[in-house]
Amino acid sequence: MYDVMIIGAGPVGNYLASLLASRLKVFVIEQKGSFGGKACTGIIGAESYEKLGLPKKAVINSFRGARFYSKIQSFEIERKTPQAYLVDRKILEKELAREAIKKGAEYSLETRFMGFKNGRALLQKHGELFEVEAKFYVGADGVSSRVAKEIGARAKGEFLPGFEMEVVGNFERKEFVEVWVNKELNKDFFFWVAPIDEGLARVGTIGKLDSLYAFMKMRMLKESSAVEFKAGSVGIGVRKPWVKGNVALVGDAALQLKPLTAGGIAYGMFCAHGLAYAIKQGNLKLYENICKDIKREIAFGLRARKLFRNLNQEKIEDIFEILGSREAVEVIEQTADFDEHAKTIKALLKHPKLLAKLLKISPTLIRYLL
Ligand SMILES: Cc1cc2nc3c(=O)[nH]c(=O)nc-3n(C[C@H](O)[C@H](O)[C@H](O)COP(=O)(O)OP(=O)(O)OC[C@H]3O[C@@H](n4cnc5c(N)ncnc54)[C@H](O)[C@@H]3O)c2cc1C
Repeated sequence: MYDVMIIGAGPVGNYLASLLASRLKVFVIEQKGSFGGKACTGIIGAESYEKLGLPKKAVINSFRGARFYSKIQSFEIERKTPQAYLVDRKILEKELAREAIKKGAEYSLETRFMGFKNGRALLQKHGELFEVEAKFYVGADGVSSRVAKEIGARAKGEFLPGFEMEVVGNFERKEFVEVWVNKELNKDFFFWVAPIDEGLARVGTIGKLDSLYAFMKMRMLKESSAVEFKAGSVGIGVRKPWVKGNVALVGDAALQLKPLTAGGIAYGMFCAHGLAYAIKQGNLKLYENICKDIKREIAFGLRARKLFRNLNQEKIEDIFEILGSREAVEVIEQTADFDEHAKTIKALLKHPKLLAKLLKISPTLIRYLL
């Protein structure tokens, strides 16, 4: 019998395994035969990356700034040091799994979780069914989590497709991410261009594929210059409960992602720390309370996302005019935190002049955020 069985060896499942394996008997299963491969740009806040102790080997580029574009204007936020890293997900996941295995975790690839049967996990490998028992089970099996279904967890939110391409082009400013907000091309989300180097970038959006093609045309990037295409999905909202009996959900399975950017790697890993503590204490009830800061961030992000969804392009232009002002750029440059959006938004709303301007755009919604 294992102490913990982790279902899903994505970044969060592997990270959790690496946190637990030196103290407990850990078994990780993964339905695929190798790591990585998921549609994911791989941008992680630099501060979180250091705090989480993630492997430098997986970093393929660093960003120290971002340029924001609306339909007709743009502004830039710049810092001297890296604010975010671009990672190779395959290397990241493999390195974390390697660490977990070195500490004693056992892995089984090509093994699919089928459900629970009399308190045991029913698994399938190469057509054969078998059962495995553990004291605790963790669903780290992504947004369409089978484990979540098994424990009757319910989700309230949006489930959207996401697309990403690696495109050959000219990206001279490789230390800057581009963020494009154009509601006429995509009402659900922004577009991003994240350079890997001066000649290659990851370009993507959440929403419709047609909108990504339309954006690429506008950005003068050619679909015929893509060297990789990936499609996936994101769940933006709340899935409850995270714990039932001796089963817990973590990462995308628990919808632990930033509603404004759909980034889930850092939040999932911070929650993995909380879950690892609860498991080591033998009490899963501690888990949700330890993750209350992330829960609060997600709740704030959901309110900010609602605000974003209700804005038309005209209002986006008004907001860009305010955010591009010298005062706003100063506030953003001082407070911007890649993984704590509430901090920056609250700092902007605390600035009397900026608040007055923002209130003119949408008083009800700004008050709702406050
Ligand atoms: C287009 C796009 C771009 C994104 N960009 C970013 C970004 O830049 N930064 C960021 O932080 N996040 C990004 N995300 C979100 C990010 O991909 C997820 O938050 C992250 O992958 C969550 O990790 P996870 O380990 O929880 O789940 P996953 O990465 O989904 O891993 C789950 C694993 O479980 C396995 N599995 C599933 N079901 C079973 C089963 N029944 N049995 C066994 N194994 C199973 C899967 O094969 C998979 O390996 C993006 C998402 C999309 C769609």
